Amino acid sequence: MTTASAPAAAASAAKDRSQERQKAMIAGHYERMARIPESGEKAVYTFVPGNLTELLLAFDLVPVLPEINALQSGMRQRSGDFVQTAEKLGHSEDVCAYVKCDIGMAEQGNIGPTGQRIPPPDLLLLSYTGCFTFMKWFELLREQYGAPTTMLHVPYQGEGRITPAMREYVVKQLKDVVIPALERVSGRAYDEGRLSELLARSARAEDDLVWVMESARRRPSPIDAWFAAVYYVGPIFSSFRGTQDAVDYYRELREEVAARIDRGQGPMTPDGPVHDERFRLVVEGPPNWTSFRELWKMFSDEGAVVVASTYTKVGGVYDDGFRHDPSRPLETLADYCLGCYTNRSLPARIDMLSRYVQDYSADGFIVHSVKSCNSFSAGQLLMLREIERRTGRPGGFFESDLVDPRYFSAANIRNRVESYLQMLGQKRTGAAT
Ligand code: SF4
Repeated sequence: MTTASAPAAAASAAKDRSQERQKAMIAGHYERMARIPESGEKAVYTFVPGNLTELLLAFDLVPVLPEINALQSGMRQRSGDFVQTAEKLGHSEDVCAYVKCDIGMAEQGNIGPTGQRIPPPDLLLLSYTGCFTFMKWFELLREQYGAPTTMLHVPYQGEGRITPAMREYVVKQLKDVVIPALERVSGRAYDEGRLSELLARSARAEDDLVWVMESARRRPSPIDAWFAAVYYVGPIFSSFRGTQDAVDYYRELREEVAARIDRGQGPMTPDGPVHDERFRLVVEGPPNWTSFRELWKMFSDEGAVVVASTYTKVGGVYDDGFRHDPSRPLETLADYCLGCYTNRSLPARIDMLSRYVQDYSADGFIVHSVKSCNSFSAGQLLMLREIERRTGRPGGFFESDLVDPRYFSAANIRNRVESYLQMLGQKRTGAAT
């Protein structure tokens, strides 16, 4: 059943203003990176989970996020070649595809997804280490570029909570290790007042982002909280947290979603709006980037709308109330790093997903397991069974990869998704008779 109608495809060509703004922001950031040889700005490579964007911006440093470069390359069909280049260099098939995409890109001249050059790092800032691959990735880049490396060790939330000792440990490293490294690379002194101003703007943007994501509790949901939300979280995941651009973007997005609610509309997809919300789903795991639109269409054609997802929390969990707090700048950065989804234990992830299924009145939940992400795919089947047990809603499962197109088997995945949704439909019919 096709719920995203053909005439509506034309409507998708007229993008929302917030989407145009988001695209321009991201493009501007790639231009800024490409201009670094002339501007003399300094590039700091860092990762999405636990990113310290406000702190970097307080020193006028330019954040460069290798995972974002990889996913953007995937969406633009450039990653397959990069991955195979890295394999020819000796990186095995099992290595995280993000890493191989980045290594292959560097090998081919470091031309990024927009066709512009990505600058070499002036500093490698490893501000989250919950995935061991992050460490190995920066070891490779350190070897390649000879750049200084700074590591912020973030203790794992094994017990499911942040203790004062954990916070103090992170703050001490920020003071003794990270800030001195940023002073060295930028040539500027740390200015806490400036950091606080940036953090205040982060909190404003976070308020609006949470409002948008929680709008999916409504029927019909005005947003898709996995596919479309990838665009929504883009600015806050990457280089814009703390900027006025981010505040303006999230305000505009919120107003657009509010207008959609007033009109009783469902989510917009690249093929037009979803008119008939047939299934409400929660999703664990990131989307596949190389066949992103094809995958989205498999869901939207069936009227399946994702109402909550964990991927949209890997750059920060805000829906449990956390906001960056300008009155305690370093402590709040520590809490942010410690609270990332990726820093939470399996039981905490199960709690979160079960809560989403219930709070967002989902019919079921799907796990998208990433073949080469050993850090987060491990344990997902166990999670699936436990969430089924707790919520009584059936779970679905499919596997592909992030940016390695060889692992996206469209026919298999379509089959899985359609069978799963059929089963949900039959359950519903059975319950009504
Ligand atoms: S292994 Fe997974 S979590 Fe680690 S860098 Fe790769 S995709 Fe990210």
